[in-house]
Amino acid sequence: MQELIIINFEEIYLKGANQKFFSNKLRENLKHKLQALKDLLHFSHVHGGSLFIELKRSIKREEWKKIESILKNTPGISQFYLARISATDMESIIKTAMDMAEEKIHQVKSFRVTAKRLKKNLPYTSLDLARQIGAAIVNRYGTKVDLTHPEWNLHIKVRPGMALLYDRVEEGAGGLPAGTAGRAVALLSGGIDSPVAARMMMNRGLELVALHFHSVPKTSPQSIEKVKKLARILAQSQGKIKLYLIPVLEIQENIARHNDSKLRLVLLRRLMLKIAEQIAQNEKAKAIVTGDSLGQVASQTLENLIAIGNATSMPVLRPLIGMDKKFIIQYARKTGTYDISILPHDDACSLFTPQNPETKAHLAYVLSQCNKIDTAKLIRNAIEASELLNIDPFSSALL
Ligand code: ATP
Ligand code: MG
Repeated sequence: MQELIIINFEEIYLKGANQKFFSNKLRENLKHKLQALKDLLHFSHVHGGSLFIELKRSIKREEWKKIESILKNTPGISQFYLARISATDMESIIKTAMDMAEEKIHQVKSFRVTAKRLKKNLPYTSLDLARQIGAAIVNRYGTKVDLTHPEWNLHIKVRPGMALLYDRVEEGAGGLPAGTAGRAVALLSGGIDSPVAARMMMNRGLELVALHFHSVPKTSPQSIEKVKKLARILAQSQGKIKLYLIPVLEIQENIARHNDSKLRLVLLRRLMLKIAEQIAQNEKAKAIVTGDSLGQVASQTLENLIAIGNATSMPVLRPLIGMDKKFIIQYARKTGTYDISILPHDDACSLFTPQNPETKAHLAYVLSQCNKIDTAKLIRNAIEASELLNIDPFSSALL
């Protein structure tokens, strides 16, 4: 029995002349993620909007489960399925269809056959194919045909040179392959929002480098473990991810000593952006991604976003800016970060927070406060003391 994995990528298919760039990147990302199964898989060429992965031997159920979960979580894939291959003559197709029926039909009360020919120069029509196979199944097993709500739908797609038979189409993550839109740094706190923002931008083709600011020993090492777990989930989509752990306690202490206490959060955030900008330059990244959502907390009023955003000339991408918390939580649940995000953690930003933080910062006043601390030195120290982790959940043989 010969099988094939077919991966469809509608959005890439729309990219016309650039299609090859997008499909090559998707193939490269998948090769990395599926490296533990490289003895089983052969990545072949792109055929009319689909990427084919041939199986060199028959696949075990656990192997397909593993592949399925990787494909579902890979940006750039709209749909995928596992198909059996047959020759295109009617007799061979019927034989393969009957083999599949023998395995599946006992578990269902109704079925249908859906046939499609991509090339029309064949001695039978799609309808002939569906009718003959349907009749053969009814004759042998007596199972009822139901064209509208079948419990089992056997699809047959006749392509040039081969027919594909399959009965389950899985939905992928959609979007564009990670890395096709360039690189950005993503500010990753332990909260709900920032992993969602990162995942969304990854799904639009960005390759992300994650940055986390901590105040160890004033914040707990568990908070860092939590961020590592979040980064690992993001790496499962992207393939791998770099995570910078950057200490900001010295910055916070300086701000607490020298600045207007109402502005502590705004000033810390400005320095976070400045550090992010420098790391972005080193990493050849062109933008900064944050999980800001307008009005959600004190640092996210329009005035404060302006006073903070002014710290960098790099574009700050805030995909959640207009989104309700309810929607963000749904997305976090779907992409697997929610359960980790809601674990308790202490946050660098809530240290030294005054009773009444400024909610309407004035840029001119903020800038005058910035001059009271040696920002260049503090930024340099933080970057020098930062730690870099390379997180790659696929590097070792996991299967
Ligand atoms: P989140 O749920 O992502 O923590 P939030 O609603 O709590 O967001 P803030 O705490 O104001 O909002 O943070 C806004 C954004 O600033 C975060 O989404 C994140 O991108 C960035 N950020 C905040 N704190 C940190 C941190 N300690 N390390 C890295 N980025 C951070
Ligand atoms: Mg937060």
